[in-house]
Amino acid sequence: MFVTFEGIEGTGKTTQIARLRDHLESKGREVFLTREPGGSRVGQELRQMLLHVDNSDLTAITELFLYLADRAQHVAQIIKPQLEAGRVVLCDRFADSTIVYQGFGRGLDIDMLKKLNEVAVNGVWPDLTIVLDLDPELGLDRATRRNMEDDKTLAEGRFEAEHLSFHRRIREGYLTWAALNRDRIKVADASSAPEEVFGRIRALIDTHQP
Ligand code: C5P
Ligand code: MG
Repeated sequence: MFVTFEGIEGTGKTTQIARLRDHLESKGREVFLTREPGGSRVGQELRQMLLHVDNSDLTAITELFLYLADRAQHVAQIIKPQLEAGRVVLCDRFADSTIVYQGFGRGLDIDMLKKLNEVAVNGVWPDLTIVLDLDPELGLDRATRRNMEDDKTLAEGRFEAEHLSFHRRIREGYLTWAALNRDRIKVADASSAPEEVFGRIRALIDTHQP
């Protein structure tokens, strides 16, 4: 089973994925956790580039190809073999981030992005995608506090520098995209306490398990 998590920053993707791993392992499943960008060795180099290069120094198309390169490598080298070995793969962001950030966010053509995603994922689509949905003002507040606690560099936090209107567009993009892909993409309200959010996720997973 391949499950991906999506949503704006500060929705708690990383926290919830860790909880879900514990939950699935307690039920005897073998779980592999990964993330994009940066899930493979080459991907880690690409992640550094994506996170540290000045926004104005990267065209939207260049950025797109870096994310796609990261994904193609990640699928071929990590995700596919892990699934073939029988593990549950939980991934923090995947192809839907490209549709929403590069499409709804940066204005690239959605049909083009769908085609390029097909090339990058090479048939390996998630069985289930969970969008954690949250008001961007709350999300940014959480993300800023987390980064301050983690003492991240300014460059690491460059995504937070986007205007609130950008994050609103991203949130709306996720909701629109989820509505167009109801069978695969489920939306979970992420505004309540982590335990309560996890309850919603567990319900989605349990109804989806083979
Ligand atoms: O939230 P996370 O730690 O995954 O941060 C990665 C950042 O990369 C996101 O906040 C988002 O702004 C950006 N991103 C992007 N396009 C993608 C994937 C991520 O702009 N396709
Ligand atoms: Mg995270």
